[in-house]
Amino acid sequence: VTSLATTHGPLPLPAFLPDATRAVVKALDADDLVACGVEALMVNALHLAGSPGVSRIEALGGAHAFMGWRGPIASDSGGFQAFSMIGGKAMGAAVAPDAAGVSDEGLRLKVPGRARSEWLTPERSLRQQMRLGADILFCLDQCPPPRAPASVQREAVRRTVAWAERCRREFAAALEEGPAGGSPGGPAATPPVGVRPLLFAVVQGGDDPDLRRECTERLLALGFDGYGFGGWPVDDSGTLIEMVSRVAQWLPPEAPKHGLGIGKPETLVEAWHAGYRLFDCVIPTRDGRHGRLYRHREDPAASPLQGRAFYDEIGITHARYERAREPVEPGCPCPLCRNYPAAYLHHLFEIRDPSAARLATMHNLVFYTRLIRVLRERA
Ligand SMILES: [Zn+2]
Repeated sequence: VTSLATTHGPLPLPAFLPDATRAVVKALDADDLVACGVEALMVNALHLAGSPGVSRIEALGGAHAFMGWRGPIASDSGGFQAFSMIGGKAMGAAVAPDAAGVSDEGLRLKVPGRARSEWLTPERSLRQQMRLGADILFCLDQCPPPRAPASVQREAVRRTVAWAERCRREFAAALEEGPAGGSPGGPAATPPVGVRPLLFAVVQGGDDPDLRRECTERLLALGFDGYGFGGWPVDDSGTLIEMVSRVAQWLPPEAPKHGLGIGKPETLVEAWHAGYRLFDCVIPTRDGRHGRLYRHREDPAASPLQGRAFYDEIGITHARYERAREPVEPGCPCPLCRNYPAAYLHHLFEIRDPSAARLATMHNLVFYTRLIRVLRERA
């Protein structure tokens, strides 16, 4: 598979989707993203439902018009964030313990930006993503922490499959209703791929190969447009890549595979070797805003791209860059490296100017899009 047919045109694969969680890749606008070679984005339906609200975005013409983005948009259900909130991992302080919980019906949680706790059901999540106008939708899934007990992992797989089935049913119903809420000549036939959004399911199962296999096979039996590898991949360990590879082997070679939250450059390359073609991750953007920059050690087109040897990371706020005349990465085509010595970015971080985040983020995104284009050539 060399490209994915979406409602906003073919997406060449592999593709890296920066996280535009709240309808923005922090510090950048759509023109900046195009300049970085970005071709698709990942938004978060749960966050957008909280603020500014799905109906406001819908009234403004959908996520594409709202963000000024012409390319494909994938939407995460927010299941991962919801469970990290419920688990008290990331934003626990914002959630009253009695206000959050999970049942077969769905998730009860405090949506960011809303006063009261609400139900997030598979059907509701699917409708939110449809109304945003996303090109690639993800079924709501249950994502337990990696070291959760086996019973919790088993329960999560059971729910993830049941919720995926409900999402699939709701998706079919929404397509039949059509964009205007019903077609005059009775129910329309399901539109072909390229004319309708794509629905991806998420494989859970933690570190347990049997559970992962069961989840993969049951989702495959239901049938989806693509499959995401879910979990907590920020923890880029050896176990992660082993599990990522196994799941790919249980899926048909032609099925689009998305490595959710993947990842560090070497993990992305390994997942690509395993057959994954879609990736999204906060690393280049979040690290950029914190002054951590990724650099190719050599021309990536000429590199074997093995292990971590093909790149390094620098902290631009370090004193050693105070007087650095060279660009951050000589030969990098990004606006930062084309125009400024590394000392200038060091200075911008020192005085906390907003342009520091913009230039550093653009550099890191160019690092990723160059890597992706090299992989594309090798496919
Ligand atoms: Zn650069």
